[in-house]
Amino acid sequence: MGTTQTKLRALLADIFSYLHANPEVSWKEYKTTKYIKGLLEDKGCRIQTFGKTPGLVVEIGSGEPVVAIRADIDALWQEVDGEFKANHSCGHDAHMTIVLGVLFTLLEDGIPDHGTFRFIFQPAEEKGDGALTLVGKGVADELDYLYGLHLRPIQELRHGQFSPAIRHGASWSVDGVITGEDAHGARPHLNANAIQIGSEFFQHLNNIYLDPMIPHSVKMTSFHAGGDSTNIIPGNATFSLDMRTQTNEAMEELMGKVERIAKMLSDYHEVEIDLSIRSSVAAAVINMEASKIMEEAIIDTVGIKHLVPMITTTGGDDFHFYTIKKPHLKATMLAVGCDLEPGLHHPNMMFNHDAIEPSVKIIVKALMKTVEKHHSQGVSN
Ligand SMILES: [Zn+2]
Ligand SMILES: [Zn+2]
Repeated sequence: MGTTQTKLRALLADIFSYLHANPEVSWKEYKTTKYIKGLLEDKGCRIQTFGKTPGLVVEIGSGEPVVAIRADIDALWQEVDGEFKANHSCGHDAHMTIVLGVLFTLLEDGIPDHGTFRFIFQPAEEKGDGALTLVGKGVADELDYLYGLHLRPIQELRHGQFSPAIRHGASWSVDGVITGEDAHGARPHLNANAIQIGSEFFQHLNNIYLDPMIPHSVKMTSFHAGGDSTNIIPGNATFSLDMRTQTNEAMEELMGKVERIAKMLSDYHEVEIDLSIRSSVAAAVINMEASKIMEEAIIDTVGIKHLVPMITTTGGDDFHFYTIKKPHLKATMLAVGCDLEPGLHHPNMMFNHDAIEPSVKIIVKALMKTVEKHHSQGVSN
């Protein structure tokens, strides 16, 4: 028993090192897919890949219920120490490692006669459309329960703390285009300066009021105008907005207000301002039965002292599209405390790797409990 544990720990350390050193951005996770497939090929699992679409689904066991755990597999593209590159600053390398640890543990310890375990290695979480794409390929078909997980920043959970649900907010990424006409630098009265319009847009965003009891924010996160000729007043610009709200209804309201700003500035300056939604992530829908099972799994493995009730975060996750598309799914996400600093998506994000092993144990316990409960309730369909 002790040596198996030590072997698994060493194997997971190797897997994490490889994944961390080989990050791939959304929709380009081909090496990652191949690597995971390679680890599992001789293990007697059923493996499904999707041709040009990266990611894979691995299944063991048979019959009902069908219980899945999802790991996101993509990295971010960002500047790290002066160089732009793919970087696992959202901890998806750890998520893959933990979920592989769960799979190896179940293969080693054995699984119940009745019950199917499905492991979803999902691409493009950061783009917000990975989950929807895989749902379209049938990975959520016949699923009864779905678990996910995410490392949490130190402000939300400390190392050693776990929470059975993450109340994610909605997040939208919106692209804006200002279309006007350039003018000579000597004749500023002949056009509207797109940089000025952009700065007015920025100011008005700070004048939006929504219900203060519902966390929300909207920020301009990119703005591009002008070129090499600095004697031209630019008429055109592009920009992006990052929008967050804790509920899906508040997001609709926020978008309505942003659209009104665009219309007002467009009327006043006589330019076109077009807004389009580049990506959108829905707010969490948490199932009480699934989160209760996860809570019991935390208590049984690491003890009640390490349990923190459901956490609320302004971050988003495309995990919640599974339940939007399959409303009968019983789903929750495990929140993993690991003293993660300075923050998710920070180029130099660091976390305590000792959180990997207890996370594996908690999820194994949750999966086994789910099957047990399902059969003890005599559920069948
Ligand atoms: Zn992320
Ligand atoms: Zn993430």
